[in-house]
Amino acid sequence: MGDDRVKNEAMETMSLFQVLPRLVVFDLDYTLWPFYCECRSKRDMPSLYPNAKGIIYALKDKGVDLAIASRSPTPDIANTFLQKLGIKSFFVAQEIFSSWTHKTDHFQKIKQKTGVPYNEMLFFDDEDRNIEAVSKMGVTSILVGNGVNMGALRQGLTEFSQNQSSLEKNKQRWRNFSQKSSSSGTEEQ
Ligand SMILES: [Mg+2]
Repeated sequence: MGDDRVKNEAMETMSLFQVLPRLVVFDLDYTLWPFYCECRSKRDMPSLYPNAKGIIYALKDKGVDLAIASRSPTPDIANTFLQKLGIKSFFVAQEIFSSWTHKTDHFQKIKQKTGVPYNEMLFFDDEDRNIEAVSKMGVTSILVGNGVNMGALRQGLTEFSQNQSSLEKNKQRWRNFSQKSSSSGTEEQ
């Protein structure tokens, strides 16, 4: 089955990385599925982008938590579709509401609910203003051009680990700096 092949490939990709995000957050419209759900009827049978399900399964298997941040004005249709697709229970937080902010309030709620710090999250979305606003919060944020696929996953994990290692370097620099200043302080006494 196609989903299994994608899942295996995603598992292999993830095994190349030493650090993984604790939480991966997805937009819905044009990120997980190729339409605006407000333009559809609840009676429709939706489908995801071809790689989306395999990637979701692989993340779940690796113990990475999943969440949704969507500004859809029709959360009832979005929820019905998530149920029909059999993936609703996969998401530990589902923030689906329209908002004037570019999802910064969605992420505040996700952080409150999950307790995961922003710098341990990875986010996929198809709108650059959301990417810009959320990355300023410290979330590694990836703009998708054609839905979530293997390329986007690889890019996301790469940027996430780069961000993590620069955070580590800064922490180390700070530790060295405070050690130096405390030891020079004792010398002076
Ligand atoms: Mg979208």
